[in-house]
Amino acid sequence: MAHKIVKEAGESLGLSFHPDQGTAIGMKDGYPVQVMIRTKGNNSFLTGIVRYDDASQDSAVRETLPGMPEVVQAGIKAKTIEITDGMAIFNNVRGITGFPKVEKFVSNMEALIHSLKGIAAPPGLTCRICRQTSVDQPLLANGVVDRICPVCIEKIQREAVEQEALYETLPMHIPRAVLVAAVMAVIGALVYGGIIILTGRMLWLVAIGIGIGIGFCARKAAGRVGLPIQVLSGLATVVSVLLGLVFTAGYYTHQHAAKAGLTINWAVFATRIPQILMEIGEDTIFSLAGGLIGAYFATRFTRKPDMKVKIER
Ligand SMILES: [Zn+2]
Repeated sequence: MAHKIVKEAGESLGLSFHPDQGTAIGMKDGYPVQVMIRTKGNNSFLTGIVRYDDASQDSAVRETLPGMPEVVQAGIKAKTIEITDGMAIFNNVRGITGFPKVEKFVSNMEALIHSLKGIAAPPGLTCRICRQTSVDQPLLANGVVDRICPVCIEKIQREAVEQEALYETLPMHIPRAVLVAAVMAVIGALVYGGIIILTGRMLWLVAIGIGIGIGFCARKAAGRVGLPIQVLSGLATVVSVLLGLVFTAGYYTHQHAAKAGLTINWAVFATRIPQILMEIGEDTIFSLAGGLIGAYFATRFTRKPDMKVKIER
């Protein structure tokens, strides 16, 4: 369904549809153009990208394009036009009635491209990097329409490998990351347990938040990330969520004991943590599952950066 609208809109604009990537790319009036579906949060957008490449024109395009007569006449709202890094991006949110009609999207894209001509010249089918070599067709670089000649592709990939090697030489501050992850895990456990006590509910969203928090802080603390920091932040997230359950159990045990006028020997309580987690089996399994989802997010924040440019034709 989503692919169908991209294919139809792309082909109406004279672009070629790439089914594997679910996007349509091509040249229109000298501009590299792309049609795709993008998702941001809970929203889906039917998005059109027009490249003029010259980022020094960004502010001029941003100020002028939404007010061009054809754009105004088409009823294109300024907030649907995003200007960044030499690209005009036209975002159409999927509303309750779905995406806009293909014909409307296509005529709006044409109005934008036509109006852009008066502001930023089309770059044509030349390599974006060296500007010298002509390219036979546009390609996708990290999923975005582009033109890069074979020589420049080789050059940027070689540079990416060098940068990755350079990154590997940076120190990884493991003790500092362990300390930060441990502190964050305790804070996360207090939040997770606190929310259970206040609402009576275990929420995976909280576990995800803990994972993101731990991943983010561990990354900062480690300086360089990679597998050891991924393992650390993932483990810390699972431990944090389970510790939150233990805190909750401790809280309720304390409540019961206080009513009966008893005090709890916390040292004994601590030695019984595995049994406690076994006894509240379902809650433990549910929280463990949430913790694993959170851990996935933590590891995403702490994976080794991929500096290579993905080229697809
Ligand atoms: Zn080149």
